[in-house]
Amino acid sequence: MTSFKAVRLVEKLEPLVSETMPTPEPGPVETLVRVEAAGICHSDVHYWQGDPKLPPIPRTLGHEIAGVVEAVGDHVSEVSVGDRVGVHYQTSCGVCEFCVSDHDQFCVKGQMFGNTIDGGYAELVLAPSRNLVSIPDNVDIAHAAVMMCSTATVFHALRRSRLTAGESVAVFGLGGLGQSAVQLARAMGAGEVYGVDLHEAKREVAGRHGAIPIQGGPDASAAILDAGGADVALELVGSHITMRQAIDVLKPFGRAMAVGLASQPTQFTSFSDLIGREAEILGVADHVLTELPELLEMASAGSIDLTDVVTSEVPLDDAAINATFANLAEFGEGVRTVIRPDL
Ligand SMILES: [Zn+2]
Ligand SMILES: [Zn+2]
Repeated sequence: MTSFKAVRLVEKLEPLVSETMPTPEPGPVETLVRVEAAGICHSDVHYWQGDPKLPPIPRTLGHEIAGVVEAVGDHVSEVSVGDRVGVHYQTSCGVCEFCVSDHDQFCVKGQMFGNTIDGGYAELVLAPSRNLVSIPDNVDIAHAAVMMCSTATVFHALRRSRLTAGESVAVFGLGGLGQSAVQLARAMGAGEVYGVDLHEAKREVAGRHGAIPIQGGPDASAAILDAGGADVALELVGSHITMRQAIDVLKPFGRAMAVGLASQPTQFTSFSDLIGREAEILGVADHVLTELPELLEMASAGSIDLTDVVTSEVPLDDAAINATFANLAEFGEGVRTVIRPDL
């Protein structure tokens, strides 16, 4: 194949366009991956809207990528042609102070697939072999793609929260991130897991996976406190209101994890919120490469199942992807759509 198809961002807020691209030759430590699944993330819609800033254009979007190795460079030994792989969405140098301390999300040379480099809305994507993680045979490839982003982020949040067995967890927001968070918290040994959302259908899905459903809104924190409070609270909505609730529900030594991107300030009082409980408020940025194999193993073992999250598939077609964008831009976080180039 000397050329391949990609659906690309060419102008802010203009429909994405199908283009034919020349097939690249992998460099010594690079791998060419045939994309089998690429998640359409809400972040992609933000990039298209130029929020917070437009990627360099033209650009192939897509940072939730899974596929099969098509070709490898001369010095690639980690993977072979035909392997099923997920692509970690940020490249990293492997030698800077952040990479060597397992914090590669802050790599000084990091590039982001589908933003600063071309991503997965394509038949083929070129990736450093260092970025590839092997997908166990029994894990659905579309699920693996989505795990590369939202599931990985909440996994990182739960690890950073130092959750220990038996601790209670409150999850604010039951979209893609929240549904993964409920399942992962359970798998990691949490006691009570409270799932908070305004929408009954989302609470019901979380309930099927072991969450105690809590009606979102002004009474949510009182309901969780009445039930005993939370050791760990994850704010996934991106609202200063739910961020405040995440602090409110904490027990002594509790940790409130800021994951959603709230643009308005959250107020707290040193004594009653932090000192008097020795509570913590922690920021969570992305995830790291070494977390992905662990996550895929959990999926392989059945600890996490995204069947209820990945609900729609579309072909690699500009019209279909543009329709998904319009839907996401209008309704916010909805069902998760995955591009399947083989459809
Ligand atoms: Zn994403
Ligand atoms: Zn680095």
